[in-house]
Amino acid sequence: MTGLEYGAAAGSSPARLRGSYGLFIGGSFVPGTAVFKTVSPATEEVLAEVTHGTTEDVDRAVAVARQAYERVWSVLPGRERARYLLRIARLLRDRAPELAVVESLDSGKPIRQTRDVDLPLVTAHFFYHAGWADKLAYAGFGGAGSSGAGSGGAAAAPPRPLGVVGQVIGWSSPLLMLAWKIAPALACGNTVVLKPAESTPLTALAFAEICAEAGLPPGVVNIVTGDGQTGQLVAGHPGIDKVAFTGSPEVGKEIAKSAALWGKRFTLELGGTSANIVCADADIEAAAQGIVEGVFIRQGHACCASSRVFVAQEVHDDLVAAVRERMSALRSGDPLDEATDIGAVNSRGQLDKITELARSAEADGAVRLSTPHEPPDRGFWFPPTMFAGVSQEQRIAREELCWPVLTVSSFAAPDEVVDRTNAARYGLSAGVWTRQGALSGWLAARLRAGVVWVNSFGGLDPAVPFGGFQESGFGREGGRHGLEAYLDLPGAWTPDV
Ligand code: NDP
Repeated sequence: MTGLEYGAAAGSSPARLRGSYGLFIGGSFVPGTAVFKTVSPATEEVLAEVTHGTTEDVDRAVAVARQAYERVWSVLPGRERARYLLRIARLLRDRAPELAVVESLDSGKPIRQTRDVDLPLVTAHFFYHAGWADKLAYAGFGGAGSSGAGSGGAAAAPPRPLGVVGQVIGWSSPLLMLAWKIAPALACGNTVVLKPAESTPLTALAFAEICAEAGLPPGVVNIVTGDGQTGQLVAGHPGIDKVAFTGSPEVGKEIAKSAALWGKRFTLELGGTSANIVCADADIEAAAQGIVEGVFIRQGHACCASSRVFVAQEVHDDLVAAVRERMSALRSGDPLDEATDIGAVNSRGQLDKITELARSAEADGAVRLSTPHEPPDRGFWFPPTMFAGVSQEQRIAREELCWPVLTVSSFAAPDEVVDRTNAARYGLSAGVWTRQGALSGWLAARLRAGVVWVNSFGGLDPAVPFGGFQESGFGREGGRHGLEAYLDLPGAWTPDV
């Protein structure tokens, strides 16, 4: 195996990449029969060879996860599970500068985003869930806390875990999505088989190294890399007790059907395309900054990217001008450069999709406002783009935008914008910009979105549940609500679509 060393942004460590990776099953890397290459979307350079998990590999991973569940993890006291989670959190913190570089290389995201936002959140998720591992009986799901133990009642057992969880995640925020899935699953006493996206497997594999370094009992976490077929094998495996999925609504629906058929629990974190609503009295400069940060920074690769802007018609032109001014100052380029705001689009497939959708928007009559952009010769690049004059009937207004693209349309009255926002297929998150507390409360109460930010956009915290309505999926990740998804509770999450 040959090692690759990359120079990184100031303050970051060089990435320690192996030339090739096996599958992480039963506590160590095991070779598989087929490999694929993961490339840097900024340069198309091959970063590493990664193993393609087959039916036999997934069978093996599920079998060792079952053994680890029954013999070790589900019978370990919560305070012991907490110690492992704390160890993982500390190792993540220690290796954060290096992991940020790997994430930027593999996903195309700018280093400022991976290092200053993603990695701190990843670590925080493990610290936060370590705190829950020995307190599940007090979380209000039944157990000591609800049986009056604090006032002298007998302590009841904490709620039971579900068993072996199959987890499949996408390419936007790969390590953060892994943390959202693995930290609560382990805190609640489950074992996991996780499949990262084909285009962004490297930080999941680095996480596997961390599990081994933390001395996590073999089989508690298994990482099986591969493509959509491997995802299907994990999500549809008869030996798992629950599926947790982050990805597109199309695949989410397939998973929901098959899980329902097998009577398995499932939670789905699906697509977004969030609305950002700018009212007539809003601070326009602040709103423009929030919009630009909400969609362009990390090149729109986020389920909660604020890609649909609704602006009160009296301030439409002012807002468009303020957003354009900021767009023209954005720098796109090398994800490892400190000065980069917008990195590379994650894969050629994603670039093709947005290129085609942008053409169709122009053909439908939307006005395209892009900033001057000279992409490097290699890699997958798309300029920051705003489409103005967008109407609800146009494709660009209806489809998910997971790229550096936003649409702007105006509204006349608050109830109109509520109706238009709620008419979307998605309901993951929304932003509201107004100086009136009463109006923000009125809007937030009516928007069918899992999270509504007021005069800000995109803040995340492990203690705050995140998840969607409608085609954005169901179930919550984070906070006390997120634990429900990994505990065997009667009447727990049922779809609200
Ligand atoms: P996909 O649904 O294409 O893929 C998601 C994962 O599922 C990948 O690991 C993929 O493998 C795998 N997969 C593909 N086909 C199947 C299948 N038939 N059965 C099981 N697994 C399968 O989504 P994207 O990778 O395009 O992810 C982007 C989507 O994720 C966007 O819609 C985005 O909004 C959403 N997202 C939602 C979040 C939330 O919290 N709600 C957070 C982040 C993203 P492979 O990579 O090899 O194709």
